[in-house]
Amino acid sequence: MKDIIIIGAGPAGVSAALYAKARGKDLLLLEKDRVGGLISHVSKVSHYASLADNESGEEFSQKLKDQLAFSNIDVTYEECLSIEKKDDFFLVKTDKNSYESKKLIYAAGSKLKELDIDYKGFDVKHWPYGNEESLKGKTVIVNGGSDGASKEALYIAKFAKEVHIVQNQNALMCIDEFKKQIEASDKIKVHTSTSLKDLEIRDYKCVKAILDDCAICDENGIEIYVQIGQNGSTDLIKDLANVKNTFLDEEISSMIAGLYFAGDVRIKDVKQIATAVADGTLAGIKASK
Ligand SMILES: Cc1cc2nc3c(=O)[nH]c(=O)nc-3n(C[C@H](O)[C@H](O)[C@H](O)COP(=O)(O)OP(=O)(O)OC[C@H]3O[C@@H](n4cnc5c(N)ncnc54)[C@H](O)[C@@H]3O)c2cc1C
Repeated sequence: MKDIIIIGAGPAGVSAALYAKARGKDLLLLEKDRVGGLISHVSKVSHYASLADNESGEEFSQKLKDQLAFSNIDVTYEECLSIEKKDDFFLVKTDKNSYESKKLIYAAGSKLKELDIDYKGFDVKHWPYGNEESLKGKTVIVNGGSDGASKEALYIAKFAKEVHIVQNQNALMCIDEFKKQIEASDKIKVHTSTSLKDLEIRDYKCVKAILDDCAICDENGIEIYVQIGQNGSTDLIKDLANVKNTFLDEEISSMIAGLYFAGDVRIKDVKQIATAVADGTLAGIKASK
């Protein structure tokens, strides 16, 4: 029987693990994909205190991994498939094993949304980092106008011929820092109050992207990226928590003894590394008491 099982090794889960380990707890940190979660994919991590200049998500995640290693915390790379609350313990089943713990911290974060159109087998992507070669000299569409989408559009513009930001609101919804850079770029065109409706695919290339009010065409192929927000990863926990619009409408300490929630999986006004880390810190300390 473990003291604490933590589900998810994003910034929230990693922080929870660090604080619980320091309090002498026997932990199991489960991660189905990669340490760092969402932020591990971004082209540049912004605004979190202590970042290096132009630090990529990959570099940030490596620092999280290093910190886990020097704190002697192993990551168990298994996907949690179910969570049951028994009388005085939690039973967690993964794709490989079953585990029991006295306490459980749920820090499973969120998943990126897809567009509500038929991709027709075309490889629509979310993250440009690592795909730089395929962007060189290309026409690229970035769906979404939030901070995340705008930042990735700026990164894409370093390689692409032209970048079209397509968003359904009537103005870019990002912070001034990104807005000013987008306005100053001669490669980026912003399409507001519109959305991508259909794709024309020829020889595995997207040659035409149809928006509400116009079409973007390029016989050499158009690359398409989607950053239109996230859904909470709450399927596994929905019987033990209040879920609203896929996110947890819950405080860090739940009404169920021994169960804690941390990070982007919760409804909150600001979803950033700092707030995920704050949640994880509190969950790790509370669960250790
Ligand atoms: C495009 C974009 C850019 C961003 N840029 C910034 C930025 O510059 N600065 C900033 O502060 N914030 C940024 N953010 C926000 C930041 O990424 C999140 O707030 C942060 O990653 C949330 O951390 P988390 O640990 O709560 O969740 P996540 O990062 O989502 O991590 C959850 C982890 O749980 C794992 N998991 C899920 N389900 C299971 C399961 N069943 N079994 C095992 N493991 C599971 C996932 O694989 C994942 O690793 C950005 C977000 C986006 C989308």
